[in-house]
Amino acid sequence: MAESVELPSRLAILPFRNKVLLPGAIIRIRCTSHSSVTLVEQELWQKEEKGLIGILPVRDDAEGSSIGTMINPGAASDSGERSLKFLVGTTDAQKSDAKDQQEVHWHNRGVAARALHLSRGVEKPSGRVTYVVVLEGLSRFNVQELGKRGPYSVARITSLEMTKAELEQVEHDPDFVALSRQFKTTAMELVSVLEQKQKTGGRTKVLLETVPIHKLADIFVASFEMSFEEQLSMLDSVDLKVRLSKATELVDRHLQSIRVAEKITQKVEGQLSKSQKEYLLRQQMRAIKEELGDNDDDEDDVAALERKMQAAGMPSNIWKHAQRELRRLKKMQPQQPGYNSSRVYLELLADLPWEKASEEHELDLKAAKERLDSDHYGLTKVKQRIIEYLAVRKLKPDARGPVLCFVGPPGVGKTSLASSIAAALGRKFVRLSLGGVKDEADIRGHRRTYIGSMPGRLIDGLKRVGVCNPVMLLDEIDKTGSDVRGDPASALLEVLDPEQNKSFNDHYLNVPYDLSKVVFVATANRVQPIPPPLLDRMELIELPGYTQEEKLKIAMRHLIPRVLDQHGLSSEFLKIPEAMVKNIIQRYTREAGVRSLERNLAALARAAAVMVAEHEQTLPLSKDVQKLASPLLNGRMAEGGEVEMEVIPMGVNDHEIGGTFQSPSPLVVDETMLEKILGPPRFDDSEAADRVASAGVSVGLVWTTFGGEVQFVEATSMVGKGEMHLTGQLGDVIKESAQLALTWVRARASDFKLALAGDMNVLDGRDIHIHFPAGAVPKDGPSAGVTLVTALVSLFSQKRVRADTAMTGEMTLRGLVLPVGGIKDKILAAHRYGIKRVILPQRNSKDLVEVPAAVLSSLEVILAKRMEDVLENAFEGGCPWRKHSKL
Ligand code: ADP
Repeated sequence: MAESVELPSRLAILPFRNKVLLPGAIIRIRCTSHSSVTLVEQELWQKEEKGLIGILPVRDDAEGSSIGTMINPGAASDSGERSLKFLVGTTDAQKSDAKDQQEVHWHNRGVAARALHLSRGVEKPSGRVTYVVVLEGLSRFNVQELGKRGPYSVARITSLEMTKAELEQVEHDPDFVALSRQFKTTAMELVSVLEQKQKTGGRTKVLLETVPIHKLADIFVASFEMSFEEQLSMLDSVDLKVRLSKATELVDRHLQSIRVAEKITQKVEGQLSKSQKEYLLRQQMRAIKEELGDNDDDEDDVAALERKMQAAGMPSNIWKHAQRELRRLKKMQPQQPGYNSSRVYLELLADLPWEKASEEHELDLKAAKERLDSDHYGLTKVKQRIIEYLAVRKLKPDARGPVLCFVGPPGVGKTSLASSIAAALGRKFVRLSLGGVKDEADIRGHRRTYIGSMPGRLIDGLKRVGVCNPVMLLDEIDKTGSDVRGDPASALLEVLDPEQNKSFNDHYLNVPYDLSKVVFVATANRVQPIPPPLLDRMELIELPGYTQEEKLKIAMRHLIPRVLDQHGLSSEFLKIPEAMVKNIIQRYTREAGVRSLERNLAALARAAAVMVAEHEQTLPLSKDVQKLASPLLNGRMAEGGEVEMEVIPMGVNDHEIGGTFQSPSPLVVDETMLEKILGPPRFDDSEAADRVASAGVSVGLVWTTFGGEVQFVEATSMVGKGEMHLTGQLGDVIKESAQLALTWVRARASDFKLALAGDMNVLDGRDIHIHFPAGAVPKDGPSAGVTLVTALVSLFSQKRVRADTAMTGEMTLRGLVLPVGGIKDKILAAHRYGIKRVILPQRNSKDLVEVPAAVLSSLEVILAKRMEDVLENAFEGGCPWRKHSKL
């Protein structure tokens, strides 16, 4: 340890750029610049005994400076930071000296240092001399004056060290005693902490006990990394008491920073499940940010989420729940499993419309009626029922009336009626498609414990629509099924039950949601699959499908204008005459609704749009315009100006130009165009005639989700063992009907002694095969009974049935014809097919009132009580058997 030394009055000065050497510290430096090399050479290398030099801190301007005062060396005082501004220039052109030529700020205090070791080196290619010097800091000095000795600086100095007497005096100062005790305790603490960590305390502890306290402070502080400013302030602490308290502060800070670092490590280790490097680093970063009080992006996001949640207007109990979840989220790290799901959940809570609602205005029934009328053609009864429904709502807004359910085949306007209701009520409209929903979780959501869990469709729909009182359409409610995954219908029941839907429970949401403000409307293709409890909550409104005349009107009034509009056309460009629409209805579509009609019209509009667009591009400018425009254009170009659209001189020759740009005469759709765009006609009236061209085929009428349909039944026989084969995806009921039909025919055959040419009984030693074409479509139901018998009779009698006659009806074993459902749809289907006669069960006569008069008048309806009545009318010239039996 260095003894106190007498300092000379002049010292060669080595600048320390942004560094401080404190007394007691030992450093190793490499000198390469011309000035420092010369200094070392002259002051240390060439001297016999190890010389002394002064180390003076220098602040680089480039590093930025917070020290404002620049004073003359002589004016340096004992307190505060001071620096000296000097221009240190050398004539040496060495690059390493370039820095010396900058303006530098010398500190006015330095530390005298003794060289403990010197070594000289010569750089290889350049031959440049360098020195490595090991220096020990000895004592502080004050710079009185700074001058030059060759390329390096020298200073006139005064020592700042205390004399022995001064020291002794200070040692008895009680303040000093207290301060030194405090310093020692802190220093001891630091030593123990370091000892635990690095096991290097032994030597330091000895130091603590042996070195005088005023030196110890410097040595301690010099041993850890500090900022330049801190080092400077330590250097400036000339007064012993000041120095001790400064050192205590710095040692304590160092101790704290070690502790923080430890805490961070512990924190990270505590949360560590897998030793993923990235994970660890992120954790550290986060912990450091936490210590620093930095907010990172995640926290901003969370804050934004919290704001959104506050604005969502949740009921108080839900708000509490949400806050609990938010607190949990805040404690989590973004990489932690569960963070994201928690976040997504809270986003949902914040997005759900808890109180946001469409403003409800006074319901204007007249306007509602006008709107329904303007949106939909016909449907008088349906509209009437909707108006009644709205009227009840108007009188008693919270009336818990049944839910309206529109039942009918696709494309009859169920969805658009529901959206008209929403418009009439001034509410938003949201449609939930329930087709194919078999899982209760689709309605009610999955519990959040499942990976990838989601809210159910209801909550999702509400989130989408963003208000708590929309009109919600439960589309295709009949298509929900139940299986092992629960029963969606029971969940729907809760939705539609006014008593229960105040607190609808979505598994994912896990807090009750009030659905009572939602107006529900449902649609279904068929009534039968709807579970009875659900049906009980609904009021059914049937839409049977349209007649051809109705379709024509709907097309002319509603579909064509809408389709044109959607394609950016108007009737000025495209005209679809009534005859062509009729043609499309009859020969290109065969449906109960108007959906494929609309599609076909859209195809026409698309094709027309292409033609119009192409036409527009090739419209020639009139010659006059070209003549007028070109000089103008040329003039502009010559000036180098921009060419603008206005060069066409509209004002000059108004009439002619106007004429040029008028749209060409509209495109009128004719049969050729129809065929070009839509292809050859898909249906014609001769289909039935073609298909019943041979014996063994009969024409039935069935009912499907698409409305009524014409269903052919084909039967044939071949040599066999008297077995019956059935094909065409048939259900049990229809198979039984076939069995029944065969039994009945067999019994009758013997009654009437049915035989064919050559007296061979057709039923002996023969197999029978019955097929229902459109083999891929599943079929079931009892209403094919009479059709099956007719096909068999036709087969055995080898007589063709009438192609213009279709039939429907269930048959008993004794040959009675029983009523069936869907009469209206079936008759409409027969009408679409161009069938002229329909055989119906007698007891269905009451259903005929529902059939539009226009359709009824175009058909002959035959009512049958017994099977014989059917057969009598199905064949030209009556039942073939009777003839036989009469023989
Ligand atoms: P659904 O829901 O019954 O399957 P949509 O409501 O989707 O049928 O109707 C199909 C298209 O037919 C819609 O563009 C609708 O506006 C139109 N449409 C159906 N019926 C009528 C009608 N009576 N008047 C006017 N347009 C109708």
